[in-house]
Amino acid sequence: MSKPEDYKSKLTDEQYDVLFNKATEAPFSGEYDQTFAEGEYACAACGTVLFDSDKKFDAHCGWPSFYDAIPGKVAFHVDNGFGSTRTEVTCAICGGHLGHVFEGEGLGVPTDQRYCINSLSLTFTPSTSLPKKV
Ligand SMILES: [Zn+2]
Repeated sequence: MSKPEDYKSKLTDEQYDVLFNKATEAPFSGEYDQTFAEGEYACAACGTVLFDSDKKFDAHCGWPSFYDAIPGKVAFHVDNGFGSTRTEVTCAICGGHLGHVFEGEGLGVPTDQRYCINSLSLTFTPSTSLPKKV
């Protein structure tokens, strides 16, 4: 596995702070909060595709929200910070912090899960600039 420092040159200070110091961007500040174009969301550090736009939905929480991740590409960790137990979501490949996943909120999405992800952890590529799927 690469070390966080290996990614420092390709990330902004804000991105590095979220991915490797577990910072959280301010709600409604993120570049992808209101992005609903078709495409892929990759880890901003290592480039692994983590989320597909067809699983993105508007949870009105101020962060990009997905109801599912690409299987095997994200890892889960119990996070006991801030007096509550949450499940942290990281990139399974480089370990970069992405956000948290919440369950059972009754938001009407197929999995009843909400991946609440920092825009700064992601790089979106619209499907118009991806190779056509056959
Ligand atoms: Zn990664």
